[in-house]
Amino acid sequence: MTTVEAGESPSGGSTAPAARWIDSHCHLQDKYRPEGLELLSELSEAAAAGVTGVVCVGTDAATSRQAVDLVRAVRRETSAGRGGARGGAVPDDFEVWATMGLHPHEASDGVGELEHALAEVLETDRDLVVAVGECGFDYHYEHSPRPAQRDAFAAQVELARRHDLTLVVHSRDAWDDTLDVLRAAGPPERTVLHCFTGGPDEARRCLDIGAFLSFSGIVTFKGAQDVRDAAAMCPLDRLMVETDAPFLAPVPHRGKQNRPAWVVAVGEALSEVKGVTPSSLAATSTSATRAAFALG
Ligand SMILES: [Zn+2]
Repeated sequence: MTTVEAGESPSGGSTAPAARWIDSHCHLQDKYRPEGLELLSELSEAAAAGVTGVVCVGTDAATSRQAVDLVRAVRRETSAGRGGARGGAVPDDFEVWATMGLHPHEASDGVGELEHALAEVLETDRDLVVAVGECGFDYHYEHSPRPAQRDAFAAQVELARRHDLTLVVHSRDAWDDTLDVLRAAGPPERTVLHCFTGGPDEARRCLDIGAFLSFSGIVTFKGAQDVRDAAAMCPLDRLMVETDAPFLAPVPHRGKQNRPAWVVAVGEALSEVKGVTPSSLAATSTSATRAAFALG
């Protein structure tokens, strides 16, 4: 893992081309956080590794509200000016955003509660929420029946369109149904296929509907050549990087609970696939993430 490029001089000016990453998808709510690791320590560790921002993703109404609370709390901390050189805390320019969604595992709960929570948050705190999701299909585990997954996904596609939010899609072993629903509803203007697990054919189909592809630590796994091939053909302006922490820790951290700092290992693996430097991949994936979530 290269961290040499990640530094900035104490005066604030860049000394070298710094690799500055955004973790486009992670779960930092208490129930997901590695035991004994405080939120601010986790983010400060990420910042030290070159991470400049994270998108904290909700998986049901409760964790979606928690994602929003967490963003509010971190922003309060950073705007209080307690970060950076004074040690320990999160740098002032560290950015955090929330998404609100119902994961396909929880689809049988129905979207009612989520819809209510989203409406409530959007009324007062529009700028904290950048996307609806994660939502979609998971036919690998199939914790919710398929028709419930379809209903919940279709409803959330509609929510994203109605509120002009990005849609964050989880699709596992369900490409046909995922693309069916997206095509039927008309994909929202900004759609992200998170933790992309398909190969080049699936990537082509997703790119053709205008989606962004976000790659996780899976690209570092030996058996995942198909996913690397998908990354290889994904244009840099549609390619994003994520940890999906606490899941899917990249090599060389496999088996541990993942954390945003390790997005650097994911990004470095992708830079190799794309034949560009880590700094360059950091810059393009950051721009892609800003475009995907309309971060300005
Ligand atoms: Zn996730």
